[in-house]
Amino acid sequence: MSTGARALGDAVHRLLGGLPVENPPAEALALRDGFLESSLGREMAAARRVEREFDFLFHFEGTLLRGIIDLWFADAGGVTLVDYKTGRSIGDSLFAAYTDQLRFYALALEALTGRLPRRACLYLLHQGRTVEVALGEETRARCRAVLGEWKRAQEEDEWPPRPGVPCEWCSFEGGACPGRALLDPL
Ligand code: SF4
Repeated sequence: MSTGARALGDAVHRLLGGLPVENPPAEALALRDGFLESSLGREMAAARRVEREFDFLFHFEGTLLRGIIDLWFADAGGVTLVDYKTGRSIGDSLFAAYTDQLRFYALALEALTGRLPRRACLYLLHQGRTVEVALGEETRARCRAVLGEWKRAQEEDEWPPRPGVPCEWCSFEGGACPGRALLDPL
């Protein structure tokens, strides 16, 4: 199992979160600088409020949810929500999961600020690219459906592993979950 992707992802997230990193890899520093020099990074630098590594707890449909938002910032136009991704490629299923993740984050910020963010973005660090995720009327309905799927899985104790690219940085691999070993059984 390679832990390189996970270590790099951890280092970049810490650097971008303003947290100390001992002997940061040059690649992590370059990815951080790439974001800071991007148009999104420059907007962050000019914002009137910036929150990084933002812990949240909020009630949604009777369920307490927690998470950590990589970055959000507020300027005169409203709130921009950002989640960094260090993966080199994002397939359709992963993109769908990331989109749902941002929707929940958006609802958490709505609970905090009273409004949905005006913009929610995945920032693909290796590509230096911003991918915007649409928010709107459907955001709450989609999160309600996802929460329903989670509850059903919990009630049925059904959490099948889905090995793939995310195993590279998943903290369960090699511990609670065999991860990609499932793809190449001995
Ligand atoms: S290690 Fe297991 S839980 Fe983690 S992403 Fe891979 S299959 Fe899913």
